[in-house]
Amino acid sequence: MNKTTVGDFELTILSDGEYFLDGGTFFGVIPKVMWQRKWEPDEKNRLRAGLNSVLVRGGEKTVLIETGIGNKLDEKMHKIFGHEEKLLRSFEAAGVAPDEIDVVINTHLHFDHCGWNTVYREGRPVPTFPRAQYYVQEGEWRHGQLQTERDRVSYISDNYNPLIESGRMTLLKGDRELLPGISVRVFKGHTEWMQAVVIESQGKKACYISDLIPTTQHLDLAWGMAFDLYPLDTLYSKKRFYAEAVGEEWLVIFTHDPKVPWGRVEEREGKFSISTI
Ligand SMILES: [Zn+2]
Repeated sequence: MNKTTVGDFELTILSDGEYFLDGGTFFGVIPKVMWQRKWEPDEKNRLRAGLNSVLVRGGEKTVLIETGIGNKLDEKMHKIFGHEEKLLRSFEAAGVAPDEIDVVINTHLHFDHCGWNTVYREGRPVPTFPRAQYYVQEGEWRHGQLQTERDRVSYISDNYNPLIESGRMTLLKGDRELLPGISVRVFKGHTEWMQAVVIESQGKKACYISDLIPTTQHLDLAWGMAFDLYPLDTLYSKKRFYAEAVGEEWLVIFTHDPKVPWGRVEEREGKFSISTI
């Protein structure tokens, strides 16, 4: 079990397991000869990425950041992604029940970040976390509603629209402190309104940086994903993030790293590396 503390908060990684991603889409403009030295793809050029959610306890409320892929994808999608649907088993292993969650924060609404928001019961989507209030940026939801040819495959409305209709999901407008010590911050790049979650207590800080830096192999400024809708903004947002996170030694949490869910980022002459905890 991956557990650590940030001041008064206790953070636990709860994984939804691993899934396949195409290596080319994962590393954008970086040539394969470079990325495959760090991460060897299989015969179909696929990588096995992780799905790290974080449970935050010790504050006013019990918070879950991100909900993985979930169990609602159809057979064809299941074959493509080979995902494990493990999140609820990770809850069990940690001795936590879904009804203990007061707040769910989605960094954005791609299906691999909000899949367990809901489950089907008698064919209808219902909240997986029955007592929780869910939070996402309004701009992110509005973009998902557009269902553009470029990225509509990523936006599965049963993950969020039923929650919005029932008042269980709050649409945020920009940066905000959600709870004492827990705030959200928009970093444009991957999508226009992707938000990171910053956890702060007793002078210590952690940040769930989501798809701005999805794994420890994406620390370098130029190593971004092909999925990013605004690649130059990914670059600027990363610089803005590092300007604070490196100097203040934030604990950085990586959504899609299957091996290293968190660590501190160090910089030497423009090169970024991770020191694990
Ligand atoms: Zn995404």
